[in-house]
Amino acid sequence: MALYLKNATFIDWQTFAITKTNIKVTSNDMNFVDDIPTDAEVFDCKGKLVTKSFCCGHHHIYSTLARGMPAPKKIPENFNEILTYIWWTLDKCLDRDMIEASALASAMYCAKNGVTFVIDHHASPFAVEGSLSIIADAFDKIGISHLLCYELSDRDGQDIAQAGLDEHERFLSAGGQGHIGLHASFTVGSTLLKQSVELANKFNTGLHVHTAEAMADQEACVKDHGKRVVQRLNDAGAMELAQTILIHCVHLDKIECGIVRGSGRWIVENIESNQNNNVGQANYNQITDKVMLGTDGMHSDMLRSAKAAFLAGQAVEGLGMDGAYNRFRNIHKYIAESGFKGDGDNNLVVLDYNSPTEVTSDNFIGHFIYGLDSSHVSTVISNGEIIVKDGLLTKANETDITSYAREMGNRLWDKMK
Ligand SMILES: [Zn+2]
Repeated sequence: MALYLKNATFIDWQTFAITKTNIKVTSNDMNFVDDIPTDAEVFDCKGKLVTKSFCCGHHHIYSTLARGMPAPKKIPENFNEILTYIWWTLDKCLDRDMIEASALASAMYCAKNGVTFVIDHHASPFAVEGSLSIIADAFDKIGISHLLCYELSDRDGQDIAQAGLDEHERFLSAGGQGHIGLHASFTVGSTLLKQSVELANKFNTGLHVHTAEAMADQEACVKDHGKRVVQRLNDAGAMELAQTILIHCVHLDKIECGIVRGSGRWIVENIESNQNNNVGQANYNQITDKVMLGTDGMHSDMLRSAKAAFLAGQAVEGLGMDGAYNRFRNIHKYIAESGFKGDGDNNLVVLDYNSPTEVTSDNFIGHFIYGLDSSHVSTVISNGEIIVKDGLLTKANETDITSYAREMGNRLWDKMK
């Protein structure tokens, strides 16, 4: 059954060409049409902009219930203490219901912000088995496409590392779409890294790995392995996997920059997270132009990530508005070239953007940086289906999701005491 968007002002996400048209959207595709059948499902877009919806290159649904939680036992003084006292305390307490609530709430925020495809990196060391399917089911319920993985690490011992490998094997064998997830080099031993690359090869996918986010990752790598992080990943065969994505890459030296550039692999920038954790800022323009954007679990708003990348990138990288926009949209290229499903042309966002100035093909980027924000997202179409209509979810009840999340959040905070 086709959906017709009537009276749309369509902006091509690559050329910025503006077309006033009716759009026929199906489960496979979308086309401009003149006529609408009388019995068709029609959504009137008069006065609104329509363009391709958004994607998130790196998320952590497991952090959803952290918002407003009580202070940790010790106030962290560096990046490793942030992990120990905040994230590794939280993720050890997650159970299946908390994971489900986290995923539903994150998916809801993504949908309402116009994000229809999410690449997630999950950790719940004492609820590993089945966790990726819980997340997949929650995302499916809201209507968000996904590319998932579990965070492999030796930080909690061999049994939990093995459980993570088994969870990937189970999820991918069952037809799930995913990467092989790794925490960061400093918590991943040589055997686990080798097993991860083997598993990625088996399932024709790549690694999704936190890479030199803080200087401590490099220092540990040199101490334990006699080489830097990207060199280590390269020697293990990770860079040969076409779908591998490297998260952060804040502290690479010239040789590592050359390896990344030469490999053709993608980096995911999460500038607000880097600022929040005070780990420094990369000059990606000196590494590669294959950079896309994520949120690192801080929120689910990719328009916000794009503006943050622009504002921070100006001084350090000379990043322009067009450069920030390209990073925001590069994920579509990554998904397409990797052969993943869920980001076709039938993923659209309808923006109720009542600008005080004219929107044209020539000035659209100025509106993108200085005008558009997630409050303008009114209706969202994912794989040809309306999943948000006039600001509200269509496939699930928002009040139910929020109250479930609050209940699970309270349980989580109690457990963390
Ligand atoms: Zn992350």
